[in-house]
Amino acid sequence: MEFASDNTAPVPAAVLETLARANAGFAPGYGADDWTRAVQAAVREAFEAPAAAVYLVGTGTAANALALACHCPPWGAVFCHRHAHVEEDECGAPEFFTGGAKLVHVPGEHGRMTPAALEAAISATGRLGVHGVQPGMVSLTNVTEAGTVYPPAEIAALAQVAKARGLPVHLDGARFANALVATGASPAEMTWKAGVDVISFGGTKNGLMGVEAVVLFDPARAWEFELRRKRGGHLFSKHRYLAAQMAAWLEGGLWLDLAARANAAAARLAAGIAAVPGAALVHPAEANMVFAALPRAAHRRLQAAGAHYYLWPAGESLEGPDDAPARCRLVCSWCTGAADVDRFLAPLREMAAAG
Ligand SMILES: *Cc1c(COP(=O)(O)O)cnc(C)c1O
Repeated sequence: MEFASDNTAPVPAAVLETLARANAGFAPGYGADDWTRAVQAAVREAFEAPAAAVYLVGTGTAANALALACHCPPWGAVFCHRHAHVEEDECGAPEFFTGGAKLVHVPGEHGRMTPAALEAAISATGRLGVHGVQPGMVSLTNVTEAGTVYPPAEIAALAQVAKARGLPVHLDGARFANALVATGASPAEMTWKAGVDVISFGGTKNGLMGVEAVVLFDPARAWEFELRRKRGGHLFSKHRYLAAQMAAWLEGGLWLDLAARANAAAARLAAGIAAVPGAALVHPAEANMVFAALPRAAHRRLQAAGAHYYLWPAGESLEGPDDAPARCRLVCSWCTGAADVDRFLAPLREMAAAG
């Protein structure tokens, strides 16, 4: 009953087998190898973006911080959701790598910002001339931090607000595959066709052992990205081992199959929770994450039975009466099966039946 995060899951056998193949003999370092060239071509093909620049890094934080740094000046404002990963979970890396850009919050229900709220935040920035930060860029997350999904039309509406001010758009796609599967959109429809300039294309949350790609749809920024990646300590010398992982994952659409499994498990979990009296969903469960409010007695019983997950948001605790709800986050991964979900739901159903 492992629902703490999709990064607790193992690596699919196909990825390990490809790594073993990539391990044969010598290969040039720093991305000058054939595996890297091949995976760059595969990513360009997946995104229908033949001119895009594609780079690999080891963490999503590096992907985000480097992508922002290439598109936002130090005196710029990065408009992002209040609960964006770049705001809450990266220890100031975006500010550090941009040389001091300021993250400006855009409010919005269920992790999604609206075009009107984005417009208001941009309009309120830079009014004091040289005394304040200037509008710099927009950063969206899909799947959002609340487990909801922007369809391409909503990405396009937000990008249009940004573009009207000449601002570039970044997409944090740590769970991009889950968003694609949830909407049926193609990678191109969800990114450059909707006005996205750069994406952090996540692999780790969807089965890889530590690979994210940054895809710059404007290749004019490619050299700057390379310099920033090296300077930021993220140019891996034995690059083929990053590239081979992502190559195996893209091969034959494995990445989308893995995401479909995670989303299906989460849909089963969400439907099960919604049907239990006394339990409720906190956000619509649209991809592979379920945010729920459960009675504290249910949490105690689940945790005693060995279920792993986080109470969410930070600060939520089990102190309090048995019947008072506490919120939690439940994440499904590519190897969460229906039986795992049912094992989690069983105590909830038993408790509800016992009244
Ligand atoms: C996990 C995650 C990342 C990347 O995190 P790292 O721990 O740095 O790899 C980025 N964005 C979102 C929305 C995430 O959930």
